[in-house]
Amino acid sequence: MSRIQQLDSQIANMIAAGEVVERPMGVIKELVENSLDADSTRIVITIEGGGIQKLKVEDNGCGMDKEDALKAFGRHATSKIRQQNDLWHIGTLGFRGEALPSIASVSKLTLVTSDGNDATKVVMEYGENTLYTPQACPEGTSITVEGLFYRTPARLKHLRSANYEANLIQNLVCSFALSRPDVAFRLIHENREIFRSTGNNNLHEVIFQVFGRGAAENAVALDFSDLDYHVTGYAIKPLINRSNRNQMHVFLNRRMVRDYKLYQAIQEGYRSYLPQGRYPIVVINIDMDPHILDVNVHPSKWEVRLSKQTQLEYLLQDQIAKALQDTNLIKEVKEKPIVTTYYQPLAFEKEDLRPEPKREEEKPVVKEQPVVIQEEVVEIPLPVQEEIAKDNEVLQEIYQKPNRVEEKEETYDAVPAFPDIRLIGQFHQSYLLAEAENGLVLIHQRRASMRIAYEAMLQKQKEDTTMQQLLVPLTFHVPSTLVNRVEELNEAVAQLSVSFEPFGADTLLVREVPSWLMGMEEKDVLQDLLDYFQVEKRMTLDEVARKQIAMKASSHAVSQHTYLSQEQMEALLQQLRACQNPFITPQGKPILVMMDEKVLLKEFGQ
Ligand code: ADP
Ligand code: MG
Repeated sequence: MSRIQQLDSQIANMIAAGEVVERPMGVIKELVENSLDADSTRIVITIEGGGIQKLKVEDNGCGMDKEDALKAFGRHATSKIRQQNDLWHIGTLGFRGEALPSIASVSKLTLVTSDGNDATKVVMEYGENTLYTPQACPEGTSITVEGLFYRTPARLKHLRSANYEANLIQNLVCSFALSRPDVAFRLIHENREIFRSTGNNNLHEVIFQVFGRGAAENAVALDFSDLDYHVTGYAIKPLINRSNRNQMHVFLNRRMVRDYKLYQAIQEGYRSYLPQGRYPIVVINIDMDPHILDVNVHPSKWEVRLSKQTQLEYLLQDQIAKALQDTNLIKEVKEKPIVTTYYQPLAFEKEDLRPEPKREEEKPVVKEQPVVIQEEVVEIPLPVQEEIAKDNEVLQEIYQKPNRVEEKEETYDAVPAFPDIRLIGQFHQSYLLAEAENGLVLIHQRRASMRIAYEAMLQKQKEDTTMQQLLVPLTFHVPSTLVNRVEELNEAVAQLSVSFEPFGADTLLVREVPSWLMGMEEKDVLQDLLDYFQVEKRMTLDEVARKQIAMKASSHAVSQHTYLSQEQMEALLQQLRACQNPFITPQGKPILVMMDEKVLLKEFGQ
């Protein structure tokens, strides 16, 4: 007897839902895309409980007639494509006809829609149609989703605190607003408006709303094209940068995508201006003939394929580099230093963070420019009390997870004893030469001194617990949903003695920093902490601080190609010997290389 059965449509929809909608953010992405496809000019998103409890997307688009209002929930039901050929030039954000049936299969969904003639209400509960009736409403569509994943507990469990989900949603809505400055977006969270764009088609204004004044004032307009692509948008000057790629907003035909290679091309454009391991803020839209763009790669539509990808990469890289070079704030870097081949942006954690450029003037480090970023000038009233709604259960679960900070610290137990060596001299003004009992030892002088500086700084961090009041508090423009999570944030950074204070709806303030942080571009360190906290990278916040310390240590290090006197070399060796782990740099590179005498003798044919 045959064992194969056709799955019923409810199961098929739930399976599709697994790919299309993973969390409230995914639902909102699909609904807003539908609103944009319906030519809406105003879209209001309302969420409660991070969208888990309830979310609603209202638009003033073309709406649907009563027949379509029901048809829309059919699997693979779409008004956007009709035949195979249409797949090769998709001009809408949606086309798969999967979102509505998928969402309706895992929630209670209420659709109210009017095309100007018919006005209809449809209620779907976990895949079942429970209501289909006329209902007056203005032209446009409103979709409310409640009890998301209520009947799919595994999914529900996967969700995080309401504030965390709200944070993701806010970032998504900001990204939509950046992709479509001609559409007015509003996001309402627990009855409070937390984001608004005007829809007056002024991208620069949206950049101000999303990233704050500093970024807006340092935004370089982009507009360039070749035969196939037309690129517009803004590149934020590299003095404002981030520790991850999350603020690289790239849109293809106004579609949000994640394309690692395009990010890389953009980073290449910034290469001469950004320290390693830092990422730019960009908002870029690339228009092209839809023929070139294959969006039918994955149900969630984040991934795409481009038939002329390399051409686009070069265009981005060259033109962005040129645009940055043309701005007067950037010190011109004439040639790429030879050592840049040493830079490995992809593996920066394993590489030396700041390899020594050979000559001073070639240093591609923007920090040294005499450019002062205009910080937002603030008056400081009493701390603003924000109501902090917390999803206690989930939060507790997170905090009960074992603290990984301890585990990640360097352990020194397994470090072998430092060999008994006698200094011979310096080689190429870059390496110390020494003899050990069974061979010749080369010591990388720059790396050695980096290790010494690193351990000294860590020691300082441990010992010096004093705090330093800042004359002018540091301010950080953040999503307001992050302001709501400030308690959670402060718990996470408590170990570093850092504390953020809410200041208005979308700003966090820091009034004092630990003394060890001073002189370490403390604003960058704190910005990194915020970035990492939001994306929950596996890296702990303590590690972020360590990374910064390592970076700083590398700038304190003795250069290669530097003559050292006998005393200096002895002192260096002495200090290295005293290190907890004298064998590798903070980034894991070897400091000592030993050439076994036996191997040497073999080379001599003995
Ligand atoms: P897709 O967007 O891939 O076509 P969906 O399941 O998201 O599939 O939507 C199904 C259909 O419902 C759409 O093709 C569209 O005709 C209609 N629809 C969905 N949302 C809206 C909306 N906000 N306004 C007008 N029509 C909509
Ligand atoms: Mg859709």
